[in-house]
Formats: sequence, C-alpha cells, structure tokens
Amino acid sequence: MSEVVRVKPDVPFVKELLANGGDTLKKCFQCATCSVVCNLSPDQKPFPRKEMIWAQWGLSERLANDPDVWLCHQCNDCSKHCPRGARPGDVLAVLRRMAILRNATPRFVARLVNEPKLLPVAFAIPVALLLILMAAHGTLRIPEGEMVYAKFIPHTIVDPLFVLTAAWAVICSAMGVKRVWEGFQRLAPAPKREYHYSLLEFITLFIVPAVVEVLKHNKFKDCVVNRARYLAHLNILWGFVLLAITTGSVATGVYLFGKETPWSLTHPVKWIGNLGAIVLIVGSVLALSNRLSRGEDAGKATYFDWLFLVVVLAAGVSGLLTEIFRLAEVRALGYPLYFIHLVFVWFLFAYLPFSKFAHLLYRTTAMVHARYAERETRKAKVISYQWPEEPSEGEGQAEAPSAA
Ligand code: SF4
Ligand code: SF4
Repeated sequence: MSEVVRVKPDVPFVKELLANGGDTLKKCFQCATCSVVCNLSPDQKPFPRKEMIWAQWGLSERLANDPDVWLCHQCNDCSKHCPRGARPGDVLAVLRRMAILRNATPRFVARLVNEPKLLPVAFAIPVALLLILMAAHGTLRIPEGEMVYAKFIPHTIVDPLFVLTAAWAVICSAMGVKRVWEGFQRLAPAPKREYHYSLLEFITLFIVPAVVEVLKHNKFKDCVVNRARYLAHLNILWGFVLLAITTGSVATGVYLFGKETPWSLTHPVKWIGNLGAIVLIVGSVLALSNRLSRGEDAGKATYFDWLFLVVVLAAGVSGLLTEIFRLAEVRALGYPLYFIHLVFVWFLFAYLPFSKFAHLLYRTTAMVHARYAERETRKAKVISYQWPEEPSEGEGQAEAPSAA
C-alpha cells in the first residue's frame, strides 16, 4: 500500500519567494526539461525540477537545507529552455538569497545590507568609524608635504580596524557555514562510513579539491548559454585573490621587515596589487554589462545583485584612482578618495556573510559537501540538441482553405 504523505506548506515562505522575484514559480508543470538541460545537475535526484515542486508545495525547511540550491551556478540555461517560462534559474537565485538571510547571524545586519532604504545606514557605519578614529588621532585634515596616505589615515587606524573587521567577517561566516553544513547533513547526509577522517584528511580530500575547482571555475565553464558570466566571475574572483596576496605581502613587509608604505611602482607586490585591481574592475564591468545587455536572459537582477557588483566596481576603481592621484600628487582628490576607498573595502568585507559575497562561502561549502556525500555533479557535456529553428516558408504549414 502506498504511503500517504501530508504536505504542510509554509505559506509565508511561498509568499516571500513570489514577492522576491520567484513569481514565475507557479508556471512550472514539472516537465523536467530544466533538469535535463542543466550541465551541472547529477543524474540522481537532479535539480532544479525537484526544487521547483518543493517551492510550489512550500517545503521551506527542505529548500533551506538543500545543497543543490548552491550547486546551481545561475547560468540560466534551464530558464532559457523551460517551455513554460517558469525561470527555474531565477527561482533558485531567490532561494539562495533567502538562505543567506536565514543563515545570517546577527540577522539585523542582513536586513541592513538587503533593504534599499537601510543602505545609508549601512554606509554610515564605516564612515562614522573612520571619522571618529581620525578625529581621535588628530588627522582630520588634508596633510601637507609629500603625499602619503598613512599621514591622513595612519596604520594605527587602518590596521586594527581592518583586522577586527576581518575577524568579525570570519566569525559570522563560520557560524553561517556551520549552519548550512548541518542543514545539508540533515537533508542529504553523507553515507555512513566505518572510517572517520582526521581534520587533515578532510581538508586534503574534500576542501582542497573543492577550492581548486572554485579557483579554476570549472563549473561555471560547464554552463553553455551564459559564457560571459563565467569570464566575469573568474575575473572578480582572481581580482580578490591577487588583492588578498597584495594585502598579506604589504602587512608582512610593514610589520616583519619594517618596510613603510608607499612602495615603489617597480616592486613586484605593486604589480600584483595593480593587476588585481584591474582584473577586479574588468570582472565587475563584464558582470554589470552582461546583466544590462542580456536583460532577463542573464537572470533576473535584484537589488541584492546590483549592490554587490556596484560596490566591487567602486572598490576597484577607487583603489586604482587613489594610486594614480598619489603619483600625480593631486592631494585634494587623492586623500578624500582614499577615505572613500576604505569605506567600500570595509563594506565589502564586514558585510561579506550578509551580501551576495556569501555565495563564495556557501557554494564552496556545498561543493565540499557534494564530494563528502559522494554526490558528484556530472561532467561537462555539450547539449547535443537544439530547439528547432523557426519553420522556413512553407515548411509544416497547412494549406490555406480555399474560398469556395
Ligand atoms: S521549471 Fe520549466 S522546465 Fe523545469 S520542470 Fe518546470 S516547467 Fe519544466
Ligand atoms: S541556472 Fe544553470 S546551473 Fe542553475 S539549475 Fe539552471 S541550468 Fe543548472
């Protein structure tokens, strides 16, 4: 006898999903075309068809703990091929955004970053922090003499502020990652094993390969419809990697070797930093132009998407201009721009676990989990069929009835 399953829909969840851009959800009639065309979906329990029906049924708990929501890379191949216009790629994007908000601790920071009306407050925090610290150091004026940014906002302000910000981001991120991992394990537990991996084995076997995959962006490359997105994401990611290497090298130089900034333009660390800024700018411009030029084909863009891309671009451009103004000795522009640059950088990192940036954390966690749970996503395959072209003249058309 078949088992009766009672579904208890979470109606407020469905309403929230529809209101946040998942309004096409109800059009889905479960044909599964989306799961077939998705190059990242595994053969067993493929996505996104099952997520579409879970969402229609209001199974919020399942969706919140579903690692497959994060294995989707939002190429929108599936939305393009969906015969009903249900836009499964966009529905998954909304589910990810809702998951970020749900996993965010403390929640009020997530509201701050994700509600447009609170944006001035979100920016006012770093501005106020910097102004108070500068006032306390007596540096609230444009310095005279050789243009050195450390005279305006000294290391004794920048370094502790950003170390604390990084610590905050790491703690909030770790709490979020722990939560999503536990959720993944509840919904799609890894097979029971006789052998328990040590931490080192876990890192080597599951985390390192997933991180390498993220750095190579192989999964993005597997999506065929939205190739531009792969290039944009790859540039943004490597921009951050190069800038992180630069920051680490500068901190080592200053604190271990007493080598004060600014360093000469010919210094290799400077090359890496400038390259990182350029790559970051190129990536964010590509991402923004992809969204603007392709419209809904690139996926529905929300405030959540725009804010992140605009702040990344602003951080990259302000960083590069800061250096140009210093070299040109344009102090009236350089010093204020340095302040603005620090505000953007603070914004990006302090709000990392609460903004679109959190994709990096949770998608990587889902990729680690997929390996650990032996749920490999399928290898790249070229979709071998195409939707038929529009019929040519006369092809497949019924003869017009005669007037007689
Ligand atoms: S989202 Fe579209 S393609 Fe996927 S199952 Fe529903 S109707 Fe079919
Ligand atoms: S958006 Fe792309 S990766 Fe995500 S489910 Fe659709 S086809 Fe797969």
